[in-house]
Amino acid sequence: MQPEKYRRNPTPNLADRQWPNNQLEKAPIWVSVDLRDGNQALANPMTVDQKLKLWHELVDIGFKTIEIGFPSASQPEFDFTRRLIEENRIPDDVTVQVLVQAREHLIERTYEALEGVKKAVIHVYNTTSVVQRENVFEKSKDEIKAMAVQGAKWVQEYAQKASIAHPESEWVFQYSPESFSQTETDYAVEVCKAVMDVWQPTVDNKCILNLPATVESNSPNRFADQVEYFIRNLPNREAAIISIHTHNDRGCAVAAAELSLLAGADRIEGTLLGNGERTGNMDIVTLAMNLYSEGIDPELDFTSPKKWIEVVEEVTQITTHPRHPWVGDVVYTAYSGSHQDAIRKCLLKQKNGQPWNVAYLPIDPKDIGRDYEAIIRVNSQSGKAGSAFVLAQEYGLNLPKWVQLDFAPVAQKLAEEKGGVVSHIDLFEAFKAHYALGENNDQLENYKVDRNGESETVQLEISGEIWAGQGQGTLSALCDAYQKKTGASIDVIDYSEHAMHQNAMPDGKDAQAIAYVYLDTPQGKTVGIAMAQDTVSAMILAALSGLQR
Ligand SMILES: [Zn+2]
Repeated sequence: MQPEKYRRNPTPNLADRQWPNNQLEKAPIWVSVDLRDGNQALANPMTVDQKLKLWHELVDIGFKTIEIGFPSASQPEFDFTRRLIEENRIPDDVTVQVLVQAREHLIERTYEALEGVKKAVIHVYNTTSVVQRENVFEKSKDEIKAMAVQGAKWVQEYAQKASIAHPESEWVFQYSPESFSQTETDYAVEVCKAVMDVWQPTVDNKCILNLPATVESNSPNRFADQVEYFIRNLPNREAAIISIHTHNDRGCAVAAAELSLLAGADRIEGTLLGNGERTGNMDIVTLAMNLYSEGIDPELDFTSPKKWIEVVEEVTQITTHPRHPWVGDVVYTAYSGSHQDAIRKCLLKQKNGQPWNVAYLPIDPKDIGRDYEAIIRVNSQSGKAGSAFVLAQEYGLNLPKWVQLDFAPVAQKLAEEKGGVVSHIDLFEAFKAHYALGENNDQLENYKVDRNGESETVQLEISGEIWAGQGQGTLSALCDAYQKKTGASIDVIDYSEHAMHQNAMPDGKDAQAIAYVYLDTPQGKTVGIAMAQDTVSAMILAALSGLQR
């Protein structure tokens, strides 16, 4: 490693920075650049048909501005723009945006591509960074600024020309000082001010100034300093929409965008899942879901990610990492027993309509189309909590701890036999078989319980024999009856019962209650479980089942 080879990129010294004191309260204006920045980073750029497919997903998600390409750069990009317009595929509330360099013939061609459009953003850029000025363009600051001013003039002139044939077309101008993050911030302000002097935007007719971290070269806090400094020093800031376009070279594109919003930015450009040049663009899904998880309406609809993820993967030929924030396959899954146990307990306490308050799950996975079965995977590594969770979520069974412990080896053996993740159906079948649920209900032919002051009397007819006993409750009276019948002393260690969830009801049987009984017998401890039409029957049957086992 040769750290002496590198130096920190200078950023403004902003001692009175305000952004750390701010909070996000609403979603920014979102701009998808999937079809442009995302597309230009692909080994195999999208075909026109693929672009159309992704376009429709972006519209469905709810993007109101979509950068569709660089129509002056290639024929497919030009053709795609024409198809959207000629086939009337742009909804009235969606604005298309196109990128163009500050060069006259390219700007002219851009307006040709957009002929007849209802509303479009013309996004013109030139690079302003120190390294590009010195090593790529070999131009002075004034010469680079003059390029920006000239580009702004052409954009305006050709818009006026286009309006002669199509007065209905509405044009919005956007300028990017490309590589803003590697540009002296003072100079970026100077160039943008010169562009605004050409366009003469007003509060009612704003231009867009887009500040790209074309290469992410600062920590997010120093990028936020650059943005705040820019906004504070830009004359007539109210006439501009401040847009941010971060890349992910340092892995902080989302953080930089989030802090930029605190610093006063209005608008965010990015892509779904962060596709884009090198390490990619800012991932809009992550930023939008970050806002959502704080209770802010993201104004984008990610309730069915499966559908658009398939399209993104198909057109980019890039698979989604299973641990991708918010939407990766396993990001809501717990394999470890302690995590499973915490999630299960929290979900049991989580009430509808109450703020989400579940350990290990930052949001309710159901919000983005995940069912709870995926949250906890019962495999051979899972402890007792995993199977208890699945039986609770899928069948409404609220297993007491001693049932969980009793059933754990059964679930473990099943997982080992299956050699992977066990489905809830297999698990429930194993549970029913292990406790012979519903199998011996007819052995109890008749019973009578009398309550008499402090004590209860039970009389049972079991397989044709009469049992009778007394005790403080039904279960202790039953133990008494058992002792009178067999001479063996049994104690109730614990018991529990609850109403049945309809998913768990045995076919054709009208079971309303389930009871769990934990008994201490001369042969050892035993668990009995039974379902029946009422609580008392379930309790008696559970005790009998425990004794049989
Ligand atoms: Zn970019």
